[in-house]
Amino acid sequence: MIAKTRAISDVLNMTTSLPTIHFTNPKRVYVSITNARCKTADVYVKPGDKVKIGTVIGKRNGGYFEQNMHSTVSGTVLGTVKKWHRTGKMLEFIEIENDFKDEYEPTIYERSDEEVDSYTREDIIQRVKDNSCIGLGGSTFPTYVKLESCQNIDTLIINGVECEPYLTTDHRILLEYPNKIMEGIKYLLKATGAKKAYLCFKKKYDDLFQVLTAVRKRHLDIPVEIKRVENFYPQGWEIALIKTVTGKTIPHGDLPSKHGVIVFNASSTLGVYRAVRLNMPVIERNFTMTGDGIKYPSNIRMRIGTHLTDLLEICGGYVDDSDKVLIMGGPMMGACLLRDDAVCSASCTSAIVLQAKDYKEEPCIRCASCVYSCPCGLQPVLIMKACKIKDIDALKKLRVNECIECGMCGYTCTSKINLTDYMRQAKKLIK
Ligand code: SF4
Ligand code: SF4
Repeated sequence: MIAKTRAISDVLNMTTSLPTIHFTNPKRVYVSITNARCKTADVYVKPGDKVKIGTVIGKRNGGYFEQNMHSTVSGTVLGTVKKWHRTGKMLEFIEIENDFKDEYEPTIYERSDEEVDSYTREDIIQRVKDNSCIGLGGSTFPTYVKLESCQNIDTLIINGVECEPYLTTDHRILLEYPNKIMEGIKYLLKATGAKKAYLCFKKKYDDLFQVLTAVRKRHLDIPVEIKRVENFYPQGWEIALIKTVTGKTIPHGDLPSKHGVIVFNASSTLGVYRAVRLNMPVIERNFTMTGDGIKYPSNIRMRIGTHLTDLLEICGGYVDDSDKVLIMGGPMMGACLLRDDAVCSASCTSAIVLQAKDYKEEPCIRCASCVYSCPCGLQPVLIMKACKIKDIDALKKLRVNECIECGMCGYTCTSKINLTDYMRQAKKLIK
């Protein structure tokens, strides 16, 4: 069955038509104590403590914001442990053993329409804060901070474009939770003060267009337009999407909110729905596991803090013992991981396992493909040269800090030069 499905699928869309597997009962989960945005934290639990799904087990401190840490299973706290994070860094985690009773905190239940309708903007933001909603498209920026800063917002954009090849996380979210997404949009409209919303996804998804158009008719009170956008990369880049939807060009360094626009990812919108309607923390997310190196590519709904090896196992493991490349995130912007015993945090959208192929970099032939392909109008070939000789002044003049690390220059490079790596190195040099 799987083999047949794969044979007739586009190799880049192995998981597009596969319903989501709910893998919500790992034996153990690992909640990171600190992360890239939060360098300190207070832990409220000790070994032996019993927790439920949604129990607050600590609080992270991000300097100008704070973030509750929640248990994502019911069970027993085993203690703290150092483990590999999906970013390739060794971090400290709270380890929780699942009792498989699936007990939720009593504060988590579905509120009535009347109750939810009575919530003020401040009530919604408080729910979002308490339940640690973050940018689930990968940014992990705290949603409540973004909402609190909203002033004079005119347009809300829900980004379900997910432009990187292979990934189907947002496609499945929109297809499988359309009513909840609509309600999430309603709450975000109230919290941002925006007058109109656009729900955006790629043109190629006819199934999504049909479902969302039908569901839209049940939510005529919500000022939202279903918007199909072009199938190119990087159409899902916030700045490119704003340009497509509103025609506005956001200058480098400006926040879209300064120009009356605010963007939320589709998965984040589902998180806001759950936080407001159920008082449910972000305890799970959708995840794409795909690539020709894995037996059964799958869409998975997983608990935050699940071990990557658990997810690999339910996908049947590797196809064979040959060398593989493991990419966390998409093939264009993701990062290679050298080991698979890592923890999947809330920012994990996907993992791609590819059969390793040898390729050799050749000298630059000055074809300028990299220049033509850059969506930010940069000159990657010149940045590479300045980077090699550590010419900081030239790097500044070449505006390398405007690079969004989209990977297009390296992808189109005739000589197979890993230009994105040079962009990252150049940014570090400037820092
Ligand atoms: S990764 Fe390359 S193509 Fe993408 S923005 Fe940076 S320089 Fe431009
Ligand atoms: S695409 Fe590659 S080969 Fe062509 S100019 Fe850029 S770096 Fe050189």
